[in-house]
Formats: sequence, C-alpha cells, structure tokens
Amino acid sequence: MISRRTFLTTTTLGGFATSLRAAPAAGDRALIAITFDLEMSRNFPTWDQTHWDYEKGNLDDATKRYSLQVARRVRERGAAMHFFAVGRVFEQEDAGWLREIAGMGHSIGNHTYDHVNVLATRAEDIQPRFRRAPWLLDDKPPLDFIRRNVRMTSEAMRQRLGIVPSGFRTPGGFPNGLAGRPDVQRMLKEEGFAWVSGKYARHPLGRLGVAPSPAVYDAVREAQRESQPFRYPETGLLEIPMSPISDIGAFRNGRWRLESFLRAIRVGVEWAIEHRAVYDFLGHPSCLVVTDPRMESVDLILDLVRDAGKQAKAATLDKIAAQFGGEG
Ligand SMILES: [Zn+2]
Repeated sequence: MISRRTFLTTTTLGGFATSLRAAPAAGDRALIAITFDLEMSRNFPTWDQTHWDYEKGNLDDATKRYSLQVARRVRERGAAMHFFAVGRVFEQEDAGWLREIAGMGHSIGNHTYDHVNVLATRAEDIQPRFRRAPWLLDDKPPLDFIRRNVRMTSEAMRQRLGIVPSGFRTPGGFPNGLAGRPDVQRMLKEEGFAWVSGKYARHPLGRLGVAPSPAVYDAVREAQRESQPFRYPETGLLEIPMSPISDIGAFRNGRWRLESFLRAIRVGVEWAIEHRAVYDFLGHPSCLVVTDPRMESVDLILDLVRDAGKQAKAATLDKIAAQFGGEG
C-alpha cells in the first residue's frame, strides 16, 4: 500500500495537494465519473469458465446490449460516461453499437488490443493468449510489443469509429499505477496520451463471501484519498486513478452481493462529494450484466450526483483531465 507520505509527495509534485488532510481539489465541485471497460471477464457469465482470458475483446451480445442500455440511461439522465475499448472487438462484423455510444456524446478510450499487462518485462507476463500461442509474439522487447498493441487499438478506433481515443486505461489496476516505470509512461505519451487511468489503490475486501464489515467500508472510504489525480514526477503524465471498489473486486474477488457493492459505492461517492474530489467508478458490463441487471449501480451514482446539487457534477475522464491541465 502506498503510504500517506508518498501520496503527499507525489501529489505535491503534481501541485494539487496543499495539506495532508485535503484531497487534491477538483475545483468547487466533486467530479464523478462512470467508466466501463469493454471486455469479457473470466468467471462471467458463469463461474467455471476462463475462456475469456484468451479472447478479452470478443464481446458477447449480452455485454454489448448492457453497454448500450447503460449508455442510453446515462444520456437520458443528462450525463456522459467513459468507455475503454479492447481493440480486438473491432474485428467483429458490427461496430454500430459503439458508433451509437460515441454518437450519444460518451467518451471512448484505449484499453489495448489484447488486454495486455503494460508493466510486463517478460514475454510470458504479457497476456494469457500469448502464453498459449507464443508464436504470436515477436523477438522484440515486451514494451515494443505492448506499444504495438496500444497503437493497433488507436488505429482500429480511427478506422471503424472515425475517432481518436480519449485517454488510456491500463488493463488491470496497479497499486502504484505506473510509478517507477518512466519507460511505460513515455511510451504512452509518445502514443498520444496526455493522461492515463492505471492506479487502483489496495484495500481489504473482508472474508470471502461474507458481508463486508464496517472496517471494510472504512477502508474503501480511506482509499478514495489515495485515488485522486496526480502527475507522475518522472514524466509529468497525468494519472486519474480508478476509485475502489470495482465490480470485479466486489463480485469476483470478494464474492459480494449487490447490496454490499452499492453500499461501498455510496461510501466512495459521498467521500468525494464531501471533499469536492474525484470519483472514478470502474465497471465491466460483462460482469454487471449478470450481477446488476437493473443498472442499480449506475443509477445510484447519478442519484448521488443529482442530490448533491451544485456540489457535484458527472464528468468523463477527459473532462476531469482538462480540469487538471492534461488534455488529449
Ligand atoms: Zn480491463
């Protein structure tokens, strides 16, 4: 876990934090983002399957339908949200659903072509697909392969959606984000990204399959402080962390029930509103279509923003980046 002092140092270098207690200010309003990573997830829709590790971008109909449903719901409620696409989805015949999502004014960013681990330094750590089929790799260093995986996704988005990706989200969240890896930070800047979303703070989940204790909710609340935008001191790249708890964290790793997940979302969003800070909800339609078919998590977030009046605003990550001086 990143220590409070490290957090203070990095955010101070970024120029946002003014004191130990204050979260980096997002301005006079909390900025609340809803983000969906468009990929298939192991253990969903049924617990026993791992097939999707090899085909992360081959979205099934239920996942696409849910994404579109949520996009419409958020639009109807007067907000915009952020999607991150795994590039392999553009090999599918029909990209109309994503064009429709973009047409509603939602943002779509890059999530790599094969859901690769951008911190991998050994070929075998890049992604399960390439462990099973290593001949798909070349002899170049892993970071060159990863760069190509990022670039192909941007190119696919340009060709099939006619848009430039809005930001980059790392597959998997890292407790320290991209800290200590200026090579990866530089690669992403060179590929055109002024901001990334790659940090996911470590926090406890409680006992497996047991309703979380008050201490777990307290930890989720405390993790929000560590999940505020900052710049990596090595390169100045802007980081917009994901805010605990994610749906995969709750439903796969913790085996939580929906009511516990909703309560943890409420805890995080309320903290962000109280501190006029940033909240970056991370959901996966491949998981939520099974665990939250009525879209209660998204509705809850929008209800909390609405009830906060002038103290909060729904925002895409590019809007949040602009607020922190990192556009693109
Ligand atoms: Zn992902």
